[in-house]
Amino acid sequence: MALWTPQQCRVHIAEIGRLIYDRRFSDSAGGNISERASDGNIYMSPRYTGSRLHWQLQPEHVVCVSPEGELLEGEGELSREVKMHLAIYRHFPECGGICHAHPHNILVFASAERPLPPTSEQTDKYGTVPLTRFARAHSQDLADVVIEALLPQREKLQKHAIACLLPRHGITIAGRDLNDAYDALERLDGSAKIWIDRAVLEIADRLREESGFDTPDGVWADSGF
Ligand SMILES: [Zn+2]
Repeated sequence: MALWTPQQCRVHIAEIGRLIYDRRFSDSAGGNISERASDGNIYMSPRYTGSRLHWQLQPEHVVCVSPEGELLEGEGELSREVKMHLAIYRHFPECGGICHAHPHNILVFASAERPLPPTSEQTDKYGTVPLTRFARAHSQDLADVVIEALLPQREKLQKHAIACLLPRHGITIAGRDLNDAYDALERLDGSAKIWIDRAVLEIADRLREESGFDTPDGVWADSGF
């Protein structure tokens, strides 16, 4: 995929950041996004994007960092998850954008330390999203376990984004560009919600079997519940 100019990346990161917050894919507790630009540098949401900026990013908030980790431009400080982002760009030259987020539905799976299976045609292509080994937020260890979980999925990155769940933390998604990573974020959080809602249907099914629970006209029984 063609890489965008630095200014396009700044505007794009600000736009995607607001979408992430509005749709509750991350909250004020954190999350960070980045994009590789045509100048070879990485453009990234700054530290405190959640807690101080509430994801209301402006293009000038976006920081520019060299692939080696040197802060080159930007008003803010570097995110503490920059190590994870740079490790992904280093190991995956085909990666052009990354979302690390704490989405509400995916967090149910991350908290329960369960991988996330696909639920519909919209998520079949990702397969079951694996869970990494536990590593503390902001650590080099976290960068290492993410690479370990993403490497076996490398081939898929030719066609779409790849992802891994971080136990008790969230999700990291590497895309061909930031749109690709964001698209996966939205689909996978939707998929997690489908699993949770299906569990409610199964409880309703059990209630009907155990206690004859139904609507007065038997609609639930007629529809197979
Ligand atoms: Zn995080």
